[in-house]
Amino acid sequence: MNINRNIRIIFIGAPGTGKGTQSDLLAKKYKIPKISVGELLRKLVNNNISDNINLGDLISDSVVCNIVKMRLCKNDCDNGFILDGFPRSINQAQYLTINNIKINFVFNIKLPYKIIIKRLLGRRIHKLSGRIYHIKYNPPIVNNLDNITGEQLISRKDDNINIIKHRLKIHNKQIINIVNYYKQEVKLGNINSYIEIDGDKPINLILTEIINKINYFI
Ligand code: AMP
Repeated sequence: MNINRNIRIIFIGAPGTGKGTQSDLLAKKYKIPKISVGELLRKLVNNNISDNINLGDLISDSVVCNIVKMRLCKNDCDNGFILDGFPRSINQAQYLTINNIKINFVFNIKLPYKIIIKRLLGRRIHKLSGRIYHIKYNPPIVNNLDNITGEQLISRKDDNINIIKHRLKIHNKQIINIVNYYKQEVKLGNINSYIEIDGDKPINLILTEIINKINYFI
């Protein structure tokens, strides 16, 4: 039996809590794909979607759910996957259940908003791969250049203070229902575990904590 069969993970923390970073590391460790809905959306050539992303608004559930469903149909998801930034609404959470898309672990990385803002303002990304850096906490080897390709890093347009505050407000409104939903799913035995993680720790410590939780169940 392939032990990776059961590793189907969701990350539901606020923007800037380290979901993407942890997803990248877990994807490498377990050799399963990281599916960042934000990255998939940014790759679409659609002005409406780009405008909404840049304004910090959520994209409609129907668009996002379709994108996720199509991505999950690919063969590389057969042994598991990591959903980074999905679900972001109760409808999206229910969509997975209704479509029989089984999830094993839900990680909610938590961090005070003051720290999130600092993190997002210092975040830099490699546009093509989605690799994530921070000018202070996770800097590239060479200033402002991607470690793998050597290409220029960029700041995301939605990582500016007003848009960040707007994104956090939206997150705050949606997260309570999503958390309650998954706590209920655990009670019903549909999900192994809902786990809250303190995001204010070094990347490797958080990774170890997550791996330990996963190992407990597989
Ligand atoms: P992220 O890269 O996860 O920070 O997402 C960037 C942006 O993509 C968000 O601010 C939303 O505009 C959009 N987005 C990402 N995931 C979702 C989702 N699950 N539902 C709706 N919009 C999303």
